Amino acid sequence: MTSKPDIDTTGSSAGRLKSDTCDQDWIWERDVETASPADQVAAASIAWDTQMQHLAGGSPFYARKFRQAGVGDPTRVRLADITSLPFTTKDELKKSVDEQPPFGSNAGVPEERVKRVYQTSGTTGTPTVIPLTRIDMDTWTTIGSRTYYATGIHDHHSVLTTFGAGPFVAGHTHFVLTRIGSRAVPVAPGDTGRVLTGLKTGLADTLLSTPSFAQYLANKLEGSTPDPRSLRLMHVVTGGEPGGGIPAIRDHIERVLGATVTEVMGIGDVAPSLFGECPQQNGMHFCGSGHVWPELVDPETQAPMAIETGAVGELVYTHLTREAMPVVRFLSGDIVRIEGTSCECGRTTFRMRCLARRDDMFIVRGVNVYPSAILAVVGDFRPRVTGRARVVRRDSAVSVQPPVPVEVEVPEAGQADPQLAAAIEEAVHTRLTFRCKIELIPEESFGASGYKTNLTVRRQ
Ligand SMILES: [Zn+2]
Repeated sequence: MTSKPDIDTTGSSAGRLKSDTCDQDWIWERDVETASPADQVAAASIAWDTQMQHLAGGSPFYARKFRQAGVGDPTRVRLADITSLPFTTKDELKKSVDEQPPFGSNAGVPEERVKRVYQTSGTTGTPTVIPLTRIDMDTWTTIGSRTYYATGIHDHHSVLTTFGAGPFVAGHTHFVLTRIGSRAVPVAPGDTGRVLTGLKTGLADTLLSTPSFAQYLANKLEGSTPDPRSLRLMHVVTGGEPGGGIPAIRDHIERVLGATVTEVMGIGDVAPSLFGECPQQNGMHFCGSGHVWPELVDPETQAPMAIETGAVGELVYTHLTREAMPVVRFLSGDIVRIEGTSCECGRTTFRMRCLARRDDMFIVRGVNVYPSAILAVVGDFRPRVTGRARVVRRDSAVSVQPPVPVEVEVPEAGQADPQLAAAIEEAVHTRLTFRCKIELIPEESFGASGYKTNLTVRRQ
């Protein structure tokens, strides 16, 4: 960290936006985040060798797993040969906890060294625990600081955060904001009243929220007086679900609120904030260098893929420094597109957009479809739609016969508009090449708070 340039905080909202774009070359750990690819691999390789010694001594789970996979002496496997090791699934991690609660056969450290425990949100079954040592907590804060600093949150900002403090890993963001040195204004998820008061009174210039909630705010404030663009808010950082990188959603929030939108992403089992989008707005930078080793694999065959511009695959993660519950080649379930491997901001870490959870992806007549692509089409019909939509899946089959049922949220007035449904169906067919059946659902029936939107709903 070096000294930071002065910033103009005296001008209009537009003036502040301009001065913020000057921030984009600020980098939390410049030596790490701008290292050459060769230097990144060299640093990761050293950490990997130490980590494999740690696993050999602290994880009966991996000792057994490697033995069953026919790996001779795992401590002799170099990082360059990591693809010779088996993948780890979420299901296996759960079983490792079940067979030896509370932290399981992959605890990694004696129980007394665990100093913080988060639980997953349990969207795919019973919650699982995520134990952290003091060093693990610090690592999460370091990676998170790179992530949020990359999005443009710096020590002079005042950040209204709607990410809950616990038991979920997103609450770790509060440690990150403290480390960066920004002012934090915590609000409970979906507490619209406090968010609006905070924004209108100028408590914060930055909002952290899900894209669904930011979109909900933009819909609510659009056309209101005073003009929401006159608010002090200049920056919205979205996370928790895809959406902040979809032009139809991002552009609407930016236009209504007069704020820049960038996004973050992480994964509880690895690090809650692992990717941050810089103000260039060209995808999220990988921010875990030195602590997490990322791989890309084919979502269907799981064959390794090069991390190069345009590649679409599933992210796989390996902890390089994690003490408690470390993972090796963890299949994340996140399907991403690599947007680039360099950036004008100076970071040399790859950039990506998340397209979907693997479970949300489906196939129509041989073509892979991501629900986020449907959102991008639906968003163009604003203000007759709110921007939220979800795909209805009747069974667990990956292949779906057209027309694909899609529910689209509309303001109450748009409910009985058959022309609107037909127009969206036509647009989906033109842009995504498959037929869908649109059902328009009024806002009050679509879902509770609009804080988070499941892109897929399963029903008979
Ligand atoms: Zn960048």
